[in-house]
This record gives sequence, C-alpha cells and structure tokens, in this order.
Amino acid sequence: MAKRVAASARDKAASARSSTAKSKAKKAAPKPGAVAKPAFAKTTIALVYDFDGTLSPKPMQEYAFLPKIGADPAAFWTESTSLAAKQDADPMITYMRLLYEKARAKGVRIDREDLVAQGAAVEFFKGVEEWFAEIEGYVKIRAESQGVELRHYLISAGLAEIVEGTTIYKHFHNVFASEYWFDAYELPYPKRVITDTGKTQYLFRINKGVEDETKSINQHMPEDDRPIPFSNMIYFGDGDTDVPSMTVTRKNGGHAVAVYPPGKSKKKCVNLFADRRVDFYAPADYRRGSDLFKRTCLLLDRMLADMRVQEEMWRLGRGVK
Ligand SMILES: [Mg+2]
Repeated sequence: MAKRVAASARDKAASARSSTAKSKAKKAAPKPGAVAKPAFAKTTIALVYDFDGTLSPKPMQEYAFLPKIGADPAAFWTESTSLAAKQDADPMITYMRLLYEKARAKGVRIDREDLVAQGAAVEFFKGVEEWFAEIEGYVKIRAESQGVELRHYLISAGLAEIVEGTTIYKHFHNVFASEYWFDAYELPYPKRVITDTGKTQYLFRINKGVEDETKSINQHMPEDDRPIPFSNMIYFGDGDTDVPSMTVTRKNGGHAVAVYPPGKSKKKCVNLFADRRVDFYAPADYRRGSDLFKRTCLLLDRMLADMRVQEEMWRLGRGVK
C-alpha cells in the first residue's frame, strides 16, 4: 500500500515537473503565430476531382489501353454499354471485364506494371499539371489562410493503376478509383469498382477522416468530430455521372463546379447550373487567370472567410482567446 502511495506521489511530482517544464518551454520559445490550445481543427480544404472529362479530355483507357488492343474507342464503349444492358450487369464491372476479354482475344498481356506505364500517355486539359501548385499558391497568400491545409483528392470510376502512372498522381492526398486483382483467375478481376453513386461514399470518407477503406464509415459521427466539413469542399466534375457527388456535396453545405471541353458544347453544364447542381461552370481550362481558376478562387475566398467566422464562434463558445 505504502509503496503504491509513494509511487503515486512520485507520479504526481513527475507530472507536475513535466507540466511546469512544458509551460516554461512554451513561454521561453513562443512560436510566431502559435495558436492557443485546444486549436480550431476545421482548417483543411478538400478539392475533390472526377478524372475522365474533368481533368483529361478523354476516358483514361483511350490513351494507351484501347490503342494497344486495336479497339476503336467509340465502338468499345457502345459494346460495353449494350452488353451491360443485355446481361443486366453493372456497367463498370462490364467495362473492366470487356477490356481484358478483348486483350486476351488479341493475345495482348497487360499486367499491373503495364497499366501503370500507360498512365504516362494520359493527356490533360490545358493548365491541369500546373493547377495544383498555382491553387496552393493562391490560398497561401490569403490573409485568412494561416494554418490552412489544402488537399486534392481524386474519385474516379477509371483505373487506379493508370492514375498512378500519370504526371499528376503525386499531387493527390488520396486516390479512390476502380482497381483489379491481377492474380485472381485467368483474367484480372475487379477488386474495387467505383460507380456514380458509389463515389459519394468517398466524399463521406474524406468528410469523416476515415480514408482507410478497410474501415467502415457507417457509424454515426457528430458533425463536430468530422475533420473536413462539406463546407470546406469543392467537387469538380463534367457531367451526369457526377450528379450524385455534386448533390451530396452541395446538400451538405459544400460546393461544386462543372467543366466542359473548351470550344465544345456547354449544354450539360448549363443544365447542371440551372438545376442548381453546381455553384459555377467553366471551360476546362485550368491555367491561372482562366474563368475556372477565377471562379474556384472566389469559392476559396468565401470558404476561407467562413472558416475564420466558424473559428471565431468556436473560440467564443469555449472562451479561448
Ligand atoms: Mg467524368
């Protein structure tokens, strides 16, 4: 018993020493711009992108996979769509299977490394490759951006392996895309398939900070515990397949932007805008000074200002100076 008391007294003394040491250290070396603890935590912005038609003009499989197996892109997608309808099959699983059926029929072997290598052939809309650094630069110079982290996420029905080989892969905090098992059967087998509505699951993963796909996101999480509120998100997409994601983002207080190929029809975007699915639309020109760049910056300005308002309310509520 005495021993235990002594131990507990020792612990108390040690803990008192260490907390004194900590507070002394804090006083001795105040960091410039240091935030009093506990700090307001909702300071991460997530820009979430669709891939095909949003960042790249064509579906990613059209740059290397289809040419390699001698398939005409238009004919391939038509065949895939009608096969899915005929078989009452999921369109995404159908295209993933058809790609490899055709490769096998041509005697072309495409393994994981080949798919990653195909990523190098993917082309992007003007300015995409510079966009990530430019937008980060814009956020950094705003007065309200102290302590703000900007992240880019990709949610695509395309293939994760091809994305991995693209020049822009390094800019993403996380990539959620369809993927194959390569050693499942005689043909690669879909490991993960991302459908239009399935994309919304990943928005909630980003929102709740549960990006590890082995972890369930179905448990209730109070708004206050979610690290990236939807109001800190902008979703970028190009059309009908993005409607569920745009709707989920906007209905939860977030933002959405639609893009169309420069010089081509903007009808889809006009409709999305009229239906209030998006805040803005613009040609898919990502260069600094473009309409897309300026409109995104407007949303970021509002987001940063809102974030500071939320932070001030949070401080007031907790009596934190
Ligand atoms: Mg798309």
